[in-house]
Amino acid sequence: MPLYDYRCPECGHLFEAHHAMNAAAPPCPKCGFAAPVKRITTVPAVSGGMATHAGDSRGATKEQLKSKWAEETPKLRQKLSDKLGEDVVRKNAPSLFDND
Ligand SMILES: [Zn+2]
Repeated sequence: MPLYDYRCPECGHLFEAHHAMNAAAPPCPKCGFAAPVKRITTVPAVSGGMATHAGDSRGATKEQLKSKWAEETPKLRQKLSDKLGEDVVRKNAPSLFDND
C-alpha cells in the first residue's frame, strides 16, 4: 500500500498515512480536519525489504544481471576451455561451472 504525505491546512500538521490509492484522505490526526492536502511523495520501490532508491531502477536489476551472467557464462567457459583446457578453467574459475 502506498505511503502518502499529508499536510493539514487547518493546523499545519504534517503526517503520513498508508492507504489504497483511490481511498479518501484520512482526517488530520491532530485536529480532526477532514480534508488534509496530499503532498507529492516518493513511494519506496520495495516496502519492508531493503530500500531501493529511484535511481537504481535505471540500472540492470539483479535478475537481469543474473540471466545475463547465465547467458555469458557458458560462452566464456567454452572460450577459456578451448584456450586453456577445461581442467585448468575448472580449477581456476570454478564459478563458471556453478550453473550446470
Ligand atoms: Zn489539523
